[in-house]
Amino acid sequence: LVHRMHGFGTTIFAEMTGLATQHGAVNLGQGFPDTDGPREMLDAAKAAIDAGRNQYPPGPGVPELLEAVAAHQSRFYGIELDPRSEVLVTVGATEAIAATILALCEVGDEVVTFEPYYDSYAASIALAGAVRRTSVLRFPDFAVDEESLRTAFSPRTRLVLLNTPHNPTGKVFTRTELDLICSLAREFDAWVVTDEVYEHLVFDGATHVPVATLPGMRERTLTISSAGKTFSATGWKVGWVAGPAEAVAAVRTVKQFLTFVGSGPFQPAVAVALGLGDDVFDGLASSLQGKRDLLVQGLRGAGLDVSVPDGTYFVVADAAALGATDALAFCRELPARAGVVGVPVSVFHDDVDAARTLVRFAFCKRDEVLHQAVERLASLR
Ligand code: PMP
Ligand code: GLN
Repeated sequence: LVHRMHGFGTTIFAEMTGLATQHGAVNLGQGFPDTDGPREMLDAAKAAIDAGRNQYPPGPGVPELLEAVAAHQSRFYGIELDPRSEVLVTVGATEAIAATILALCEVGDEVVTFEPYYDSYAASIALAGAVRRTSVLRFPDFAVDEESLRTAFSPRTRLVLLNTPHNPTGKVFTRTELDLICSLAREFDAWVVTDEVYEHLVFDGATHVPVATLPGMRERTLTISSAGKTFSATGWKVGWVAGPAEAVAAVRTVKQFLTFVGSGPFQPAVAVALGLGDDVFDGLASSLQGKRDLLVQGLRGAGLDVSVPDGTYFVVADAAALGATDALAFCRELPARAGVVGVPVSVFHDDVDAARTLVRFAFCKRDEVLHQAVERLASLR
């Protein structure tokens, strides 16, 4: 294995889902729903297969999906995009993240991001030979620390890699925090690459603010999203990136040699889903909000300190009350001890002390599954 990929081994999601299977444990580790997305979308995929759309689709994505992504950005956020030049379909958000960093960063360029970070950020930055500079979000409120963020920027900063709503913390960045990040990006003439895969999974009064809607940001922002979370179809791996034409063209150049094209029949199906009524988008969020409340209450009942998330389908809890001193070791034992799987937040940190005993649990599961997990955790006390 090349030096720059040392330390990346097997992802925590693969390891923890492996343990879940091995022990027959309740898997609140890897984030994937246990129910399917909209019926119209599922039927459209079958129809596309039956209609013979089984050969290579166009490299940038099928036209109806490019148009549907542009229409979605206009409908929800008032962002107007040219579907042909300003949108690119990718193999999930994961490919969009990797291809974007590979397209924009020279070896040695710096990428500013927050920790805890989604695992593929560190790996994609390393693949590009770039350097990550992080600012820590701290339990339980995960607020942006202006001082540490400012320190992360330098004349070598090429881009800021942002994720709102944020995995693993469930934090939805506030308008004030985004203004600060954007003003630093402008000051250091950096791109903002914003991963908004949880854009529709927002609770209570919290509002998702897309970075590209902020003043002066459209021309320096690349927005990434995916059908996986919005339509409960993580296995379809249909994502996209949108932004200024010349940047999207650069990402397209890289994408051609990573995967060439994405899977054909799922693209028209996701186009159908993006055009469904508001009830589909709102329905998922309100159902998840109920599940969030159920899990938060259950974790508290089991004695854990919890950070209540405003978005995503993850909750971070402090497992110190259950005897945890090292989240990774705790999570490796938990499936055998209690029949429950969670993900240690420390693996998403450079500063592991910031998350020594923190565990992320996913609540995108049927209520009975959540109840069972909570009962099992409570039995540990
Ligand atoms: N970004 C974040 C923040 C995520 O949580 C995920 C999915 N876990 C991804 C990107 C990857 O999305 P996809 O499955 O569409 O590649
Ligand atoms: N994004 C999901 C999570 O954070 C799953 C990611 C994965 O399996 N690579 O749990």
